[in-house]
Amino acid sequence: MEIYELSIAELHEQIQSRRISARQACESALGRIASVENKVDAFLTVAREVALREADAVDAALAAGKPVEYLTGIPLGIKDVLCTKGLPTTCGSRILEGYYPPYDAHVIERLRHAGAVIIGKTNCDEFAMGSSTENSAYKPTRNPWNLGCVPGGSSGGSAAAVAAYECPGALGSDTGGSVRLPAAFCGVVGMKPTYGRVSRYGLVAYASSLDQIGPIARTVRDTAMILQAIAGHDRRDSTSVKVPVADYLAGLDRPLKGLRLGLPKEFFGPGLDTETKTIVESATKVLQGLGCELLTVHLPHSEYAIAAYYLIATAEASSNLARYDAVKYGLRDENVQTLNGMYMASRSKGFGAEVKRRIMLGTYALSAGYYEAYYRKAQQVRTLIKRDYEEAFKHVDVILGPTSPVPPFALGEKISDPLAMYLIDIYTVTLNLAGLPGIAVPCGFTQAGLPVGLQIIGNYFAEAMILRVAYAFEQAAKFDKPLMRLNGNR
Ligand code: GLN
Repeated sequence: MEIYELSIAELHEQIQSRRISARQACESALGRIASVENKVDAFLTVAREVALREADAVDAALAAGKPVEYLTGIPLGIKDVLCTKGLPTTCGSRILEGYYPPYDAHVIERLRHAGAVIIGKTNCDEFAMGSSTENSAYKPTRNPWNLGCVPGGSSGGSAAAVAAYECPGALGSDTGGSVRLPAAFCGVVGMKPTYGRVSRYGLVAYASSLDQIGPIARTVRDTAMILQAIAGHDRRDSTSVKVPVADYLAGLDRPLKGLRLGLPKEFFGPGLDTETKTIVESATKVLQGLGCELLTVHLPHSEYAIAAYYLIATAEASSNLARYDAVKYGLRDENVQTLNGMYMASRSKGFGAEVKRRIMLGTYALSAGYYEAYYRKAQQVRTLIKRDYEEAFKHVDVILGPTSPVPPFALGEKISDPLAMYLIDIYTVTLNLAGLPGIAVPCGFTQAGLPVGLQIIGNYFAEAMILRVAYAFEQAAKFDKPLMRLNGNR
């Protein structure tokens, strides 16, 4: 077995017992990246030298007696929307090409503090706007299970890198499903914590009231280990909360007997691919077999979620992206006479088609006369969606459903049809609108050999609970995993 094949928990054990050094772990991951990256294209920056230097520093600290934490010496991939000092941060956009942030995001500080080694910055849809990673201004990422398919988005680089064994874990950001969807498409685990659980300081803003950073890994335990390191209050993000952080690993293997699991009628209706439906339903039966009770719940306002989400997200994006004015940082077109001309030329060149579409939609929705009809209406719908969940959680402990209505689709298949792309987010965006935590966990493969993800939704700050359900499912579920044919070996 190669070092790069080890899970975070396994690698942690090896590092703790000094059988593997941080340097060896880092070299193994870099070697794997060198051999499969030309097929997967998961990274925008591979931080080879920096990572090796950091790994050596970790080994030196260990030799000097520094205690080993969960992530000490673990190589991790970071979505390119998170600020990393000394490493480029492009957000998958030309407008930030060559930008080096002067500081680390809060989560990066936490990871570095815990001894994790940042191995590179992963590809994503431009400013996290998309569901397939095809909106990256640099290149599309490919799904390691089928290189002709998309990895999901917008954190497609992070999910594909983890699936392809280029790193055992990664961070993504989830505004409307961007951690959970690519995790489901790539057959790995991805979690969006409760809004406020993880500080957004240093996360380049897309839609601030929806954005949340989350971990991606190959196992539920590994996902919990990353969450443990990044969760917690930070005064630099005013929406970060002071709720104490639970021990996500302590209760992971507690039996589920007696838990009530809700199945929303609206998540299993028309629009759900039949094969996905069968696979997700059999996953719910696995949990029933563990002594859980399955109950039907109702989320009646879900049908308005896509419309509300794409109004609120674009409105916030139009405001957040106003800062790219070519003055303080980012791409600047010098070939102009006036200030306005510079703004226009730089933004026209720097932003891609989808980002421009969103800025226009959002600006329109916020403009006088339309604000009441669109933006305010969307906020009212948001409240109704939140209440649907509050009502459902009076009767059940967690809610189950599919992560995506369809399995991974072919590259190019939906890129010219924005509405079709937006509809992929149907089961993920409600959680962001309500602020709830959710996890996507692999639950089977289609006939064509493509992964399907079960989504487990929890009440506010019930991360430990959904991790526990996901873990029990992961241990109990038996499904055939096709061979991942990358590089002729895995
Ligand atoms: N696909 C959704 C969008 O394009 C979600 C993106 C995300 O979560 N960052 O807005």
